[in-house]
Formats: sequence, structure tokens, C-alpha cells
Amino acid sequence: MKTVRIFALLAILPLLASIGGLLMISNADEVQWGYEDDGGPSQWAELAPEFVICGEGKAQSPIDIRDAVETALVDIEFHYGVTANNIVNNGHTIQVDADAGSHIIYNGITYDLLQFHFHAPSEHTVAGEAAPMEIHFVHKDRNSNNLAVVGVLLNEGDVENEAYAPIIDNMPAEIGAPDAVGEDIALGELLPESRGYFTYQGSLTTPPCSEVVRWLLLDAPVALSAKQIAAYRALYDGNARPLQSLGARDLLHTSR
Ligand SMILES: [Zn+2]
Repeated sequence: MKTVRIFALLAILPLLASIGGLLMISNADEVQWGYEDDGGPSQWAELAPEFVICGEGKAQSPIDIRDAVETALVDIEFHYGVTANNIVNNGHTIQVDADAGSHIIYNGITYDLLQFHFHAPSEHTVAGEAAPMEIHFVHKDRNSNNLAVVGVLLNEGDVENEAYAPIIDNMPAEIGAPDAVGEDIALGELLPESRGYFTYQGSLTTPPCSEVVRWLLLDAPVALSAKQIAAYRALYDGNARPLQSLGARDLLHTSR
């Protein structure tokens, strides 16, 4: 859906240019946003009426992870399959669209895995420190529009991460239509073994910044090789929204 819209946008770019910014506020899906200068995070709220919460919201993401309250929380139950799926360079990130079937169960609610994508550097920081990358697994409640996003920090290690290789090796350099990955991706192997996590209620980190996200940030990182990180950062280096204030929200941590 999103990709179709991007294609539609590409097709009508000359038209848009010819009639100036008139269309820009008529359809949020066609608004040009990014991470620097014009259209950057400090301007997102002004780019479209639908983006106002990017500026006015009180439950925005990402945040700095610090002073979390230690408490006993339920497990995140991962039911991830092996997927050979489409990968797309959508102009904001590299994203892999999930086949139906993979899901998590959290607090009795089933959330289906829709897609996963990357940011570099990480969006969430730990005591002010960013990791080289962060992966977001985006899940949707089957019975509502609420999302649960599992985040994992990706650090630099000494060896190639074979689980991530089918993704890193198949990233489209050009923005455009989805490509087949062509190899199976064992989704569970993209996660760390330890399943302790931080959690807070927040938002999408991209416009429209909707405050519908239960964030589940695993507290153990996963390592990619320097070469793998460099391959991603050659395409996207700086697709991370600035930190937002935690405000009155709870930030909880549970160990495993
Ligand atoms: Zn993300």
C-alpha cells in the first residue's frame, strides 16, 4: 500500500513541482519528510494537519533509556516463522514486509508482525549513548489499531551476523518497488537470546507520529559486523528522530 503510494508520488512529482506546494497539505501520504533541513523532524508538525501531534504530543518516541523502574512483567511471547519476503528501499529506510503468520502475544493480546526496518544511528539511546543501528519489528493488534514495536539495538561485533546476511545482502540501493529477498530469513534468529526488556507507551518515530505504540525494547543488543553496518549506513546514515521527553510516562524494565 505504502509502496504503491510512493510510486504514485514518484509518477506525479513533475506535476507536483509544476503546481507548487498546493497539493502538499491535501494528502499526508504525499508529503515529503526527511531527517535534515527542509522537511526535517523540527518541521514535521507543520508539513500536514495529520502530523500536528509530532509537535504537540506528550507521548512521543524515541526516548533516552535511563532510570527505568525495575518490575516483574510478563514475557513477550515470540511466534516468529521463517519468511522469504519482499524488501524495499522506501526512501526513509530499508524495510522487509512480513508474510502473514508471525506474531507476538503480549499481555494476552496477539499482535501480527507487519514489517521490520532499520535506523542508523539507533533512535533509542541508553544513558545518552546511541548504538550504530536499531531494528524495529512493527506488530499490529488484530482487534484494534494499536501497535507493539519490538526494538533491538545493533552493535558492532567481530564477525558477520549470518541471520542478518539475507537482509543486508539484498538491500535495494535505489528507492522503488519491493524486491524479493530470495533467501529465507529466520526471524527469531534476528533477536537476542536474552528477553529482558524496557517498555513504555509512545509513538511512531516517523510522521504522523501516532501515539499508538507499546514499545518493547529488548535489553540485550545484537552484533553485526562493521561491514554489515557500513552497508546499511551507505544507504541510510542519519534516519533517526531526535530524542523526545519521557514526561509523565512510566519507563519499566524487567530482567530475564
Ligand atoms: Zn522505526
